[in-house]
Amino acid sequence: MPIPERQLIARLTAKSNRNSVSVLLGIGDDCALLRLSRSEDALVTTDLSLEGVHFRRDWQSPECIGHRCLTRGLSDIAAMGGSPIAAFLSLALPDGLPQKWVDRFFTGLLTLAKRHRVELAGGDTARSPDGVLADITVLGSIRRNRALRRSGARVGDQIYVSGELGESAATLHLLTQRKLRRRDLFPEPRIALGQWLSKRQIASAAIDISDGLSTDLSHICEESGVGAVIEAEAIPIHSMARKFGNQTERRTSSSGDFGLDLALHGGDDYELLFTAPGLKRVKRRIVGVKITRIGEIVPGSKMHLIRSGKKQAIVPLGWEHFRKNQ
Ligand SMILES: [Mg+2]
Repeated sequence: MPIPERQLIARLTAKSNRNSVSVLLGIGDDCALLRLSRSEDALVTTDLSLEGVHFRRDWQSPECIGHRCLTRGLSDIAAMGGSPIAAFLSLALPDGLPQKWVDRFFTGLLTLAKRHRVELAGGDTARSPDGVLADITVLGSIRRNRALRRSGARVGDQIYVSGELGESAATLHLLTQRKLRRRDLFPEPRIALGQWLSKRQIASAAIDISDGLSTDLSHICEESGVGAVIEAEAIPIHSMARKFGNQTERRTSSSGDFGLDLALHGGDDYELLFTAPGLKRVKRRIVGVKITRIGEIVPGSKMHLIRSGKKQAIVPLGWEHFRKNQ
């Protein structure tokens, strides 16, 4: 196995020549940020969906896989507070894949695209030696200097999360345990929420939860040079995950509460995690989406969880690690 993503990013960042004044942000945030005009910046994000890694054809419908493929890109635009404009899709398909599957994949992808007024404006296709591979690129725009970055969190800022966490991980767990045969989840990228946070200049930092709360929060902490304290009881755990609360079937549970583990470390929720200065009033519902305060930014670089009055370190277990242990 080659080096993990985080190390690869560090290596590439050191090697890449920063010679374009138009690239305001390169590798290492949810999107790259490019200055194209006096009033607006461009956002670019790219996400790879691999059969057997990000989806399984026997677990999810083609519509669901297409929807989730675009969700990954749109969610990155949402995390920066931007407006999506166009998507580009490169698709590698194995021999013997029914055309019906491909048509239904596009139905899922294009239905979501239409809802967000995003045009599929290009792409490429190739024959895959093994499994479906879908690489989505999404281009968006944002008013100059309004992009929500990972690096803006300051000590004393409050930490918020949208929606509820753990549904996707709970579903994956049930599929893996063969307690479910198929399950389609259609997460909605939080575009309107991101735009609201950027326009009102409420958030100091933001990221989308694609790898899991613990991992994505660690990105904000690293980029901002701060630590964080999360209150376990405040985390909005989805009912699907909450059901596992007292089950002990999973010995690798890091907290002893599997439902909490799913919400803390399970990925693919596509909710927004953001920080805001303590003085800013953050409503409990923004553009129809539930917002929950879950903790506070503190000095240092460590992340801690307060649970039943006890403080314990949060180890970012992220998505990769999580799946390996399934
Ligand atoms: Mg992201």
